[in-house]
Amino acid sequence: MTGAIRTTCPYCGVGCGVLATPDGKGGLSVRGDPDHPANFGRLCSKGTALGETLGLDGRILTPLVGGASATWDHALDLVAQRFSDTIRDHGPDSVGFYLSGQMLTEDYYAANKLIKGYIGTANVDTNSRLCMASSVAGHKRAFGSDTVPGTYEDLEQADLVVLVGSNLAWCHPVLYQRLVAAKQARGTKVVVVDPRRTATCDIADLHLRLAPGSDAALFNAVLVALADRGALDRDYIAGHVSGFDDALSAARSSSSAMTGLDRAELATFLDWFTTTERVVTVYSQGINQSESGTDKVNAILNCHLATGRIGHPGMGPFSVTGQPNAMGGREVGGLANMLACHLDIENAAHRAAVQGFWASPTIPAKPGLKAVEMFDAVAQGRIRALWIIHTNPAVSMPDADAVARAIKGCDFVVVSDVTGTDTTRLADVVLPATAWAEKSGTVTNSDRTISRQRAVLPAPGQARDDWRMIADVAARMGWGGAFGWDSAGAVFREYAQLSGIAGDLGRDFDISGLAQADYDTLPPTRWPVNARQQGGRFFGAGGFFTPDARARLLPITPRLPAAKTGARYPFRLNTGRIRDQWHTMTRTALAPRLNQHIAEPFLEIHPDDARELGLEAATLARVSSPQGQAVLRVAITDKVQRGQVFAPMHWTGDTAPTGRVDALVAPVTDPVSGQPESKASVVAIAPL
Ligand code: SF4
Repeated sequence: MTGAIRTTCPYCGVGCGVLATPDGKGGLSVRGDPDHPANFGRLCSKGTALGETLGLDGRILTPLVGGASATWDHALDLVAQRFSDTIRDHGPDSVGFYLSGQMLTEDYYAANKLIKGYIGTANVDTNSRLCMASSVAGHKRAFGSDTVPGTYEDLEQADLVVLVGSNLAWCHPVLYQRLVAAKQARGTKVVVVDPRRTATCDIADLHLRLAPGSDAALFNAVLVALADRGALDRDYIAGHVSGFDDALSAARSSSSAMTGLDRAELATFLDWFTTTERVVTVYSQGINQSESGTDKVNAILNCHLATGRIGHPGMGPFSVTGQPNAMGGREVGGLANMLACHLDIENAAHRAAVQGFWASPTIPAKPGLKAVEMFDAVAQGRIRALWIIHTNPAVSMPDADAVARAIKGCDFVVVSDVTGTDTTRLADVVLPATAWAEKSGTVTNSDRTISRQRAVLPAPGQARDDWRMIADVAARMGWGGAFGWDSAGAVFREYAQLSGIAGDLGRDFDISGLAQADYDTLPPTRWPVNARQQGGRFFGAGGFFTPDARARLLPITPRLPAAKTGARYPFRLNTGRIRDQWHTMTRTALAPRLNQHIAEPFLEIHPDDARELGLEAATLARVSSPQGQAVLRVAITDKVQRGQVFAPMHWTGDTAPTGRVDALVAPVTDPVSGQPESKASVVAIAPL
């Protein structure tokens, strides 16, 4: 196909392959890549409209210092000087970096190397903390590694697919399309576990509208049913698992009544789960974005480990990630509690290996501040210089008004981004970054497939690649030799070499087989890639990444959200995505057809609740929480249950109250993963 360039969609974690063809006038057309193993030619509404989002409206085309155009040299000198001064005067932990699952792996790697290996702080976290940190923590507790065991094909080979806290139809549309096709072909049973009736329920054979936050109680009930009905795999447990007895005992101590489910529908689910060998449990933000998210993840993993339904075709727990490169960020150690290549920051041998490979002057020995903690530290003046890359925390963090105030009050703030946002407006220095279709690198999707993003169009104005501007700052701080890459491919090769050391240390993430690969023509490749293993599944024959190679079942005591509804705040607010917008809409809002699906921020509320409050359909409601306020268009629907409301998280705005829904969300986090609870804030509602 003449002129078409193979690249990857920059939105969700499905990671669809895209064929992009420049039109010779600065734009391009797109279609799905028929050869990409994630989508085989399919694209959803957002991917199809990519060509309509390339205009220069709102683009940042030059560095900005104090809001005025500046040269790159001036901006980079200032960034390096202010960070160096802050570190000299207050120590390395007085600086912080807040990254994004939108970054390419090479950009992430460069940032992590500078921050952990040269500056010497672990105060680097990412908006993936808001997305799937509970899955990371749950995987590590159970498997000893952050490993997604299965593949997308498993959804097509399963006889039962359980979707927990996942509106797959809107949030991972192409994977949903693959599941629909599989259901038509082989009659796959589909169970949706979600308090809300979403578009995904269109294919549900059973919809369990459980009480918000009660998922762990449901999967404890599954574990008990598996034990009582003789559905355990005793050989797998004996050979590959520890902690089964304690996990079962804890499960027996919890009550399925917490779920609020009808006895008959619960019985149906337990029948299906216990009698079906090929089960895939897909889980997403309804599990992860929870103050007990890690326990929920482990309650799910317990059921698969106790049955040996893991690592075989059509079986396994499956975490689907929200962002295009959430997985890549995990792999390069973009989170505050990780090192590169799934090595552990608290393991001295791992630290020594990374520091030795980097030949770096330092490496932190303890985890840094996680996202919510980091912005608290900014507010308290403990972090005095902050660099935010490709994310908009003034809108997307919980307690967003407080986060915006913290950023505004910080001594020195740098933001690298593509377009102006609520956050760039608070920055001292804004660095113009290349966007999708202009930059080169790799991303990893939810089933461990590494795909290339390729530059199709020239960078506009003075926009620069992220890895390069990070290297430019590193050089100005005195470390140029370690950051002297000449291309994204050179960064990737270094990263792949480091992963070989991780593999030698017994870690799962080893792509050393790609270190000599032709980067320009690299096809989509599922990791691991090394002499021992090429792609495939993990854990079918055991072999976990714990010291004794056995998986851990965890005893789980379910916890409902701590904040209780009451007279002052009588409703529970669930937040999430809509089909045709992405994050804070900086790109998708540029495509007119994507704005036609849903044009305004809205509040789904049950008809009986709306009647009691005197709310009419399509009028405006003021929504208040202890943290802030928003104004939303009323959508009366029984998709939500009484006492529960739903609002999308995409809309922004300068003046409160607006559709900035995260201004309502309390900064409550899971104690293990640090992931915020985004599904269960308490709010009051009144007609405007
Ligand atoms: Fe892009 Fe996700 Fe849609 Fe695929 S499913 S086209 S990756 S938004």
